[in-house]
Amino acid sequence: MNSMAYMEQANQDLLHTYNRYGIVLESGEGVYLSDADGKKYLDFAAGIGVCALGYGNEAYNQALKEQIDKLLHTSNLYYNQPAMQAARKLKAISGMDRVFFTNSGAEAVEGAIKAAKKYAFTRDGWAGHEIIAMRHSFHGRSLGALSVTGNRQYQEAFEPLLPGVRFADFNDLDSVKAQIGDKTCAVLLETVQGEGGIYPAEKEFLEGVARLCKEYDALLILDEIQCGMGRCGRMFAWQEYAVRPDILTTAKALGCGVPVGAFLMTERVAEKSLAPGDHGTTYGGNPLVCAAVSKTIELMEQMQIEEHVQKMAHCLWNRLEALKEKHTCITEHRGMGLMQGLELSVPAGEASRLALERGLILITAGANVLRFLPPLIIKEQEIDAMYEILDGILQDMEAR
Ligand SMILES: *Cc1c(COP(=O)(O)O)cnc(C)c1O
Repeated sequence: MNSMAYMEQANQDLLHTYNRYGIVLESGEGVYLSDADGKKYLDFAAGIGVCALGYGNEAYNQALKEQIDKLLHTSNLYYNQPAMQAARKLKAISGMDRVFFTNSGAEAVEGAIKAAKKYAFTRDGWAGHEIIAMRHSFHGRSLGALSVTGNRQYQEAFEPLLPGVRFADFNDLDSVKAQIGDKTCAVLLETVQGEGGIYPAEKEFLEGVARLCKEYDALLILDEIQCGMGRCGRMFAWQEYAVRPDILTTAKALGCGVPVGAFLMTERVAEKSLAPGDHGTTYGGNPLVCAAVSKTIELMEQMQIEEHVQKMAHCLWNRLEALKEKHTCITEHRGMGLMQGLELSVPAGEASRLALERGLILITAGANVLRFLPPLIIKEQEIDAMYEILDGILQDMEAR
């Protein structure tokens, strides 16, 4: 079957919740993907920040194959070695004390919300605490995660959502101050807003929120599902700031392609939070995905991913700055590490479709931002190749 035939079939069978790009991806090698017709693409999206190690990493693939032959699944009624090893490694890179593995990002956020509520319930002896989340945030599509996602468009049809959620403005400490109070159990935010348009938290803001949280004994929940796992030049983006979250969520690049997420917390929170019977998952943290987590962390350490990302981030930053100098349709350039965005005055969706035609995978964030999330193994010459293609596209779009 060719790509057209596959797509026609899929459009009859799959629920139409995505307006997909018109290609069928089939295989990958390094930072390149190939479609079912044999066309090659330079990948600057990494499956929305998942495929940090790129494609076809031999050591990673081998670890998964070995685990498949040994044991895929046990349920959480028993211990399994890969989960223990993955948890230990995840604690070491995050400085957190307790790990709960989930199957997705949204589920990690669900768990974080429950953990914060339970903490406040244990402390105060009453339920009904409030959570402060940010406008233009994104935390996932399940109902709890949707309730803290500051985007009316995603929420409206599914109301009533979780009560007791208040929204503040990202990077506006006063707006958090105006919402926080004795009923607040947690402030939840992305260290770098992803879907909302690539907005890094300003230092004064994040550190100010952390201070406010201490003052009110509210928990600081950082959602690093997109910006964590080396993406921003540190294993977790918050490590660039003088803060430490009480609860941390991770997913996307955590397993580099297998469905796994986690929420983590400090011992201080864990002592008063979820207890036996409070939370669970059948699949979460099964041997297969945990073998992937362990190998991911091991490989990232081996290749000194933080240093590499910092270097490549600098390189990407300079290239995008050069484009901004050249093209008036670029109105802003933001980001941190290998998570950068260009705000355009022309439709970003169209730029992204043109990129695809020219063999470059680039996605958008919001309506007018081009989002750059390459595999973390990206090299300078590949950034240069992206630059050349995008330069041509912007030139053509401006010429119209
Ligand atoms: C992608 C994302 C989620 C949701 O993760 P899923 O695996 O799609 O459920 C939550 N928070 C942030 C910041 C994300 O980028």
